Amino acid sequence: MADSTIYLDMLKILPERVRARESMKKHTSWRIGGLADVFVEPTNREELRLAVAYANGREIPLTVIGAGTNILVSDEGIRGVVVKVGRGVDRISLDGDMIIAESGAKLSQVAAVARDAGLGGFEFSAGIPGNIGGAVVMNAGANGVSIGARVKEVLLLNLAGCFFKKTKDEINFGYRSSALQNDSAIVVEAFFSCFQRDKEAIKQEMEVFIKRRKETQPLHYPSAGSIFKNPPGDTAGRLIEAAGLKGARVGDAQISTLHANFIINLGEARARDIMMLVEKARKSVLELFGIELKPEVKVVGY
Ligand SMILES: Cc1cc2nc3c(=O)[nH]c(=O)nc-3n(C[C@H](O)[C@H](O)[C@H](O)COP(=O)(O)OP(=O)(O)OC[C@H]3O[C@@H](n4cnc5c(N)ncnc54)[C@H](O)[C@@H]3O)c2cc1C
Repeated sequence: MADSTIYLDMLKILPERVRARESMKKHTSWRIGGLADVFVEPTNREELRLAVAYANGREIPLTVIGAGTNILVSDEGIRGVVVKVGRGVDRISLDGDMIIAESGAKLSQVAAVARDAGLGGFEFSAGIPGNIGGAVVMNAGANGVSIGARVKEVLLLNLAGCFFKKTKDEINFGYRSSALQNDSAIVVEAFFSCFQRDKEAIKQEMEVFIKRRKETQPLHYPSAGSIFKNPPGDTAGRLIEAAGLKGARVGDAQISTLHANFIINLGEARARDIMMLVEKARKSVLELFGIELKPEVKVVGY
């Protein structure tokens, strides 16, 4: 099906939410990526359902993103339809000690709502960018805790446009992994179990985590956070640094001199520059230490 036909069709279904040939640079924290054929930003869950059902019904490739803080988008862009789940699908509510958040809500907003309500459980996430959908799929975590620990159940949307729920056990959370990474279903909403805690204690702990990030991470440059998962008993950053790769560059992509598990964009880095550095780091660490580093960042559009 021609891109222009998909675009015109989608304009009829979701006027004002659809754009053709959208630069993905605008939608990734790395500021990297080619054009998406058709880009849709639904502003409520019914619009999300319509966009997904349209693409699925015509066998058009569908890519779902959140805030784009953990993806590397190809320089050649993304074929088919890209659906961004963000503003509009971002309601957050409280039910006793439970927080209910739509997948487009920012993780930081959920943590702030928890803090202000005197609910503990989201302190770990202080400073992690991205939205709830991406955080649940990636099982985002820091400081020894991951979001899966808080999840009670998740509301999903399948490609046929039907909503259904999965419990925490069915999602099978692991270190930066979840069964949702191998599932075509879209995260719509998540239910999180929290616990009563003193507001001031929550605030102080979150401030400590944020201060540590500012000291140890290159937050002034576009990046996607950690490139590789940490191998058991070690850190990817230490291994890449020990391989002498801090500061290594391909084009405008550079292995950060502050944190070797971050690759930063110094200006006009392309996805292929990033990929070359990723491969260089992977190969060097394997050759020198016999450890195979596994990427944490998801490559989209290749
Ligand atoms: C400076 C910086 C620091 C970071 N620090 C950390 C950290 O400490 N710990 C950590 O775990 N991560 C960290 N990250 C990575 C990232 O912030 C998290 O993985 C985040 O949870 C991703 O959310 P997102 O909305 O940006 O997802 P995206 O990058 O948009 O997507 C990530 C994946 O989830 C899928 N996805 C997104 N939304 C949905 C949805 N609604 N339904 C189905 N699939 C979906 C996408 O298809 C993709 O495969 C960091 C990133 C940066 C830039």
